[in-house]
Amino acid sequence: MDKKLNNLIFVLNCGSSSIKFAILNPNNEKKYLSGLVECLFLSETYITWQCSGVTYKKKIGSKINHETALNFIIDQVLSEQKDIFKNLIGVGHRVVHGGTKIKKSTLIDNNIIKCIQDAVSFAPLHNPANLIGIKIIIEKYPSLSRKNVAVFDTSFYQNMPETSFLYAIPYNFYKKHGIRRYGAHGTSHDYVAHKTSIILNKKFKSLNIITCHLGNGTSISAICNGICVDTSMGLTPLEGLVMGTRSGDLDPSIIFFMNKSLNLSINEIETILNKKSGLLGLSGISSDFRYFEKNYSCKKHAKRSVDIFCHRLSKYIASYMSLMENRLDAVIFTGGIGENVPLIRELTLSRLSIFGFKIDLKLNLSMTAGRSGIITQCTSRPVFVVATDEELAIAQETSNIISDK
Ligand code: ADP
Repeated sequence: MDKKLNNLIFVLNCGSSSIKFAILNPNNEKKYLSGLVECLFLSETYITWQCSGVTYKKKIGSKINHETALNFIIDQVLSEQKDIFKNLIGVGHRVVHGGTKIKKSTLIDNNIIKCIQDAVSFAPLHNPANLIGIKIIIEKYPSLSRKNVAVFDTSFYQNMPETSFLYAIPYNFYKKHGIRRYGAHGTSHDYVAHKTSIILNKKFKSLNIITCHLGNGTSISAICNGICVDTSMGLTPLEGLVMGTRSGDLDPSIIFFMNKSLNLSINEIETILNKKSGLLGLSGISSDFRYFEKNYSCKKHAKRSVDIFCHRLSKYIASYMSLMENRLDAVIFTGGIGENVPLIRELTLSRLSIFGFKIDLKLNLSMTAGRSGIITQCTSRPVFVVATDEELAIAQETSNIISDK
């Protein structure tokens, strides 16, 4: 065991159908433990984790919920790490939605828990899962109860201009009920934007970039002079790009049609748009991009789904270029798909050739598996793959908040 273990942060990212966790040192970026629970609520729920260079994989059970998976992590994984655990100085929780009141990362107390609860209707798939994680950790580790920090996806979007965050509905819905665009994935967009400023050797304050976070959830942000000026996710993480199981943008009248003409209830429609749409809905087969990459050339439904995904993405990139005040420093691809699927980057950039994007096919193919670098020709507008690390970003933020107190 490393004798220099100190100042470690436990990061917990309870997603809607997965749980990511890690223990790391936010200063030297060393990861001591990292793990992932996949396929919650499905027929087989798995956990994989890495510790001291060894990877473990186990089936937890069938139709496992967040509570059971978290108890498994605590009892079977963390309990084996006593040396690491006694050096923990805090716990960072990813929270998707801060609602109307919370603007930045903060230590968790009862009031913050209530604010996260109040924002459940703005992130119905995510905030409840985030709350389960917070409650279980506080209960199981009372000595760390005052060292739990909530890091919000929405913080990054607090300085967006109202031209971007307001919907064109009666103004009172914003004033009275907080209906506006809040954005999500902010931790990742912020992290890769800072990485890009280092890669480009540019001050963050003068950075003009478009960041595309493409994972199970997908979103895009326009960052001008280091400030996020627009983003694709809205009141909830449902708006915007095509996602694994979420529809992204649609005509709101589709909801009225489904309700009035097809007699579907509001709850059924919510489930369809959040859990049965996107790549899964279009293909009828899968939401996992590995399936689409394999079948793009041979299965019609796979090609159709991927083409729609790229069509929407390229439209957003083109429109966000208009927000760049005369200069675009780079477009960034990140997230599980953005970092690992050259096909998506090629198809998207080929639709943008009118704007001067020219992909370098060899570089593009080489940028996978966590590698970061440029994927365009030297005469092109620059496009980079920049690997995200939300766990590290959350750990660093948590450490800053704890040391401020
Ligand atoms: P999230 O954090 O939103 O759960 P991730 O950023 O982990 O999502 O991305 C998950 C997506 O990335 C899935 O669609 C998965 O299939 C895809 N993905 C991850 N790795 C690869 C890979 N090596 N090749 C193709 N697709 C991948």
